[in-house]
Amino acid sequence: MTFGAIRRSVSTGVLSYRHQPCRRTFSARAIRDFDVIIVGGGPVGLALASGLGSYRMVRESLKVALVEAGDLSRTRDWTLPPDSYSNRVSSITNSSRVFLEDIGVWELVDKSCTCPVKEMQVWDGLSDARITFDAVNLPSSGVSNAAESSEMARLTENLNLQRALLRHLESIRSIELLQKTRVESIQREDRDGGHGWPLVHLSDGTTLRARLLVGADGFNSPVRAYAGIHSYGWSYDVRAVVATLNHSPRGAFQGPNHTAYQRFLPTGPIAFLPLSPTVSSLVWSTKPALAEALCRADPSVLAHMVNAAFRLPEVSVRYLHNLILDAHSRGTSISGEDICNEIAFREKSHNIPGYSAYSSVSSMLSPGVPSNDAMAVPPLVTSTQSGTIASFPLKFNHAESYLGEGANNRTVLVGDAAHTIHPLAGQGLNLGLGDVRSLVQCIVRSVAHGGDIGSYTSLRPYAAERYFTNHKVMSAVDKLHKLYSSTWDPVVWARSIGLEVVNELDSVKAALMMDAGAGNLERPQWDLLADGIKGVSSGLSTAKMLGQGIGVVFNTGINEIARRLGQH
Ligand SMILES: Cc1cc2nc3c(=O)[nH]c(=O)nc-3n(C[C@H](O)[C@H](O)[C@H](O)COP(=O)(O)OP(=O)(O)OC[C@H]3O[C@@H](n4cnc5c(N)ncnc54)[C@H](O)[C@@H]3O)c2cc1C
Repeated sequence: MTFGAIRRSVSTGVLSYRHQPCRRTFSARAIRDFDVIIVGGGPVGLALASGLGSYRMVRESLKVALVEAGDLSRTRDWTLPPDSYSNRVSSITNSSRVFLEDIGVWELVDKSCTCPVKEMQVWDGLSDARITFDAVNLPSSGVSNAAESSEMARLTENLNLQRALLRHLESIRSIELLQKTRVESIQREDRDGGHGWPLVHLSDGTTLRARLLVGADGFNSPVRAYAGIHSYGWSYDVRAVVATLNHSPRGAFQGPNHTAYQRFLPTGPIAFLPLSPTVSSLVWSTKPALAEALCRADPSVLAHMVNAAFRLPEVSVRYLHNLILDAHSRGTSISGEDICNEIAFREKSHNIPGYSAYSSVSSMLSPGVPSNDAMAVPPLVTSTQSGTIASFPLKFNHAESYLGEGANNRTVLVGDAAHTIHPLAGQGLNLGLGDVRSLVQCIVRSVAHGGDIGSYTSLRPYAAERYFTNHKVMSAVDKLHKLYSSTWDPVVWARSIGLEVVNELDSVKAALMMDAGAGNLERPQWDLLADGIKGVSSGLSTAKMLGQGIGVVFNTGINEIARRLGQH
């Protein structure tokens, strides 16, 4: 496994997004003044605008604009036929949902197209060690609706959430949405004869002046570049293949399709996220070459491969990957029928009985009483929805600060502009919504006390609250990715024992779920997870160096977990 070199950068558009004072003069009419300018109308930027607009005090005293390069009216009018789903789906945690309820947005989300997650099954692709999280172990989540409070998270298409945010914003007249408009450059106004504030030059020729400039503009954030904020990170040698999957419904004797599944293969985790009784969403992180081959092959190949990736032993999954890669490198593509036959042959050679849920061919033919292992794997995928197969590069990136430094910088970052994370724990958007909740409170407090909302002093509580909270989650998720990418036997052994031990400890599992946002309490359990993983991996390298054997490894990890548990 290789990781790209750590990158520390101020992004690419330094010339366009410069911080030097602007000596050009603009006529007073050409410049429009705003108290808050949000660059980026992705889910996080829209949530910030909605959050601010939900406060009467803000509506009455601040002029807010949101600038988005894309077409927001298409998102507002977005609709799909029944049982069709778009391919970008996020697990909205209970913490995020409480925030969206509080600002009046959750009621505008089309709930009939969302799906509760009541159970999660996660297992090791090499050892099959498994952990099951069940929402019944959760304490009260703070969600207002009793039925919804018994969930760990709710799977929601990003477009469904963005449409709800736009509908909410329609009712808030004081917030101006500038869509199909790019931020071309940002400069600092000359202090002589001006305020020394950020000047935002738009593709339609307009210039806006911001008391506070918010970067909600994603990974390549122009605002981050303007503010001179460095970021560090790396590109995982992995792409996430996404698709909307059609599958058979669960049988009469099985539970509803409310279980999310994730299997950690050495090439990356594959996740199956329920959307309706017969539709689920795929996020399969894998090597770029395989991602490309899967995206280019006949869609039936991906459907068969998803079934195999959750069912077959890793050695056979690897063999199938190589078949697909070989065909792709020859400029051809394996057919759905050939891959299906190969899977059937491999199931036979692994002695997987036809009545088992692990049999992808025969179990389709047995709709009667389900086998004992029926809920251990996702339902069988029959096809993918048209046009939904795509892939995205995965990265880790964290800005070194969320606030631009220096007098009159007046910039702040939220969402992916501040932090980008591997999707294996479904936390990226949830962290962004956490940023929004905190920044809204910070701005409202500043307005209430008559402060300058763009000043470093006013914004410092936001950065103080969010930076290390986000860092802990990012660090834990990054370590999980690295831990599960290893095929070294002692690592597999240690992580598998660790997983099975934790699986027996309901209180630890509840704590992990709470801190993953399933509850509504802020508790530092991500510390525990990160340090526990660090303990396992540092124990491993020590063990390797000193040749002391794997007992040390396991003890180090578990002792660390036990020590941290004692502190909370
Ligand atoms: C495969 C995958 C699965 C994921 N699953 C989950 C999940 O289950 N749960 C979860 O919490 N997170 C998940 N995430 C992460 C989540 O999708 C992101 O964290 C989230 O979309 C970030 O939103 P954002 O608004 O900060 O940034 P973006 O969505 O990147 O939005 C940035 C916006 O800024 C605009 N913009 C950029 N430059 C300019 C400019 N110069 N002028 C004007 N506008 C500009 C862009 O057009 C864009 O609309 C997943 C990510 C991936 C890749």
